[in-house]
Amino acid sequence: MNAFARLPAGPAAVPLQLLLPSGPPRARPLAATRRERYRAHLQAVVDIAAALAPGTPTAPAARVAETVSDTASLLPGRLCALCGGGCCTRGSDHAYLGAPTLRRFMDAHPGMSPEEVVAAYLDRVTHKTQTGSCINHTRTGCSLPRDMRSDTCNDYACDSLAQVQAAPREQVVLVVRRKQDQWRRDRADLDNAVNGAAVLSETGVRRMRVG
Ligand code: SF4
Ligand code: SF4
Repeated sequence: MNAFARLPAGPAAVPLQLLLPSGPPRARPLAATRRERYRAHLQAVVDIAAALAPGTPTAPAARVAETVSDTASLLPGRLCALCGGGCCTRGSDHAYLGAPTLRRFMDAHPGMSPEEVVAAYLDRVTHKTQTGSCINHTRTGCSLPRDMRSDTCNDYACDSLAQVQAAPREQVVLVVRRKQDQWRRDRADLDNAVNGAAVLSETGVRRMRVG
């Protein structure tokens, strides 16, 4: 069936045409050295967070609630799933986690000791992670729930995601995806061929053959 055969009538029926980067295609077992670097980062940040006054971050609850509200439409999640986390590749072994995020988490869990907070984050790390990406980046997405993620992660939207977030729910989106991630997509020396295409709507995802 033609991919556009069941489009709704009206302005949103004109597909929004977006270009996406790609997240890393492969996963590998997590090296012990990476886990140790993450543990050391968490410990250092928790020590700073513990010295901050409770409630130090500005309106974190509102920010997380906003993000949850954004996901009332299924389109943003579908877009990021098709991309596969093309912006997570710089998360490395720090996952953008800083003292304000950890302070917010500690405020929400006042019974937890600093050691338990570190353990809670380490518990979310899986044995296999996406090659060349954030330590929390798995084949199925981020292993941290939103309330444990950094404000950077919760607030970030690439241009394509921002357009989808601003679009009406009935919007149909035609997506073309290229090989490189969000940060290397303009490198002329790298192969950035099209490696996927799809039509996204509130009712589903229709992948299209490329090449
Ligand atoms: S915000 Fe953009 S780059 Fe990041 S996962 Fe979503 S679509 Fe990909
Ligand atoms: S913590 Fe999650 S959302 Fe943030 S960079 Fe890592 S995988 Fe991506």
